[in-house]
Amino acid sequence: MRWGDMRRSDNVDDRQGAGGARPSPGGGVRLSGIGIVIAVIAALVFGVDPMQFLGSGGPAVQAPAPRTPAPGAPSGGAPSAGTAATDVRKDFASRVVGDTEDVWSALFQAMGVDRYPPTTLTLYRGSVRSGCGGATSAAGPFYCPADARVYLDTSFFDELARRFGAPGDFAQAYVIAHEVGHHVQNALGTMRMFDREAQRLDERRRNALSIRLELQADCYAGVWGHFAQRRNLLEPGDLEEGLRAASAVGDDPIMKRTQGYVVPDAMNHGTAEQRMRWFKVGLASGDPRKCDTFAAAQP
Ligand SMILES: [Zn+2]
Repeated sequence: MRWGDMRRSDNVDDRQGAGGARPSPGGGVRLSGIGIVIAVIAALVFGVDPMQFLGSGGPAVQAPAPRTPAPGAPSGGAPSAGTAATDVRKDFASRVVGDTEDVWSALFQAMGVDRYPPTTLTLYRGSVRSGCGGATSAAGPFYCPADARVYLDTSFFDELARRFGAPGDFAQAYVIAHEVGHHVQNALGTMRMFDREAQRLDERRRNALSIRLELQADCYAGVWGHFAQRRNLLEPGDLEEGLRAASAVGDDPIMKRTQGYVVPDAMNHGTAEQRMRWFKVGLASGDPRKCDTFAAAQP
């Protein structure tokens, strides 16, 4: 991925060096997916092609970046552990967030909805206090609707490569774009509707609804990927990296690895097949309206 060409966002809160707050006992985090929704997106009308707000070919309109990465602005390789790794990771993450801001701002404008309110990405190591309670890196990346922030322990990138077998910068970008997808759901009111609906449901049905919410976030991640691709920010192999990651974080491979068997009713993020499929829907269409996982008979 030519992430050195992406605009760096200021909406990054780097707490990697802070040592981390201790999570309060019992203060569990409500994870991104577990909260939420029903379809708002279907009602949205695309009046315009968002590319007109993004510029065609090349990076963002306002700041055309050089085609060849500047020194210190790597392209292709994934940021990994090592000297100054936290700085590289922060730079990488803030550029991906910056690019999601450009894309979603253009999409919101094209859809004629309110201005896209950027989320803040909180980077941490070990543990963190969020508006949804304390969390450790074991929770994985998550979105907290209460403070509208994305939380990411940057060691997750290593885990993605090693434990999940999904290395690469676009794999990492997919994870960020998925959490940003939850922020989009929050901004569009989908999360609120999900919460309302979920309260009425038993656990099995709540999980089924949660899967739809998660798959929509995957589809939104694909929508971002679509516009990254159209602006020549992707490199050969990136799409495969992203799809491998979407598959790796499916409920079934995770359950198989952690407990040795799959419990379909306990799934709340979607199978590997579902997650790849919806990511592809977003990638192929670039159209958030196509991400109506709530309307599908079988998501
Ligand atoms: Zn999620």
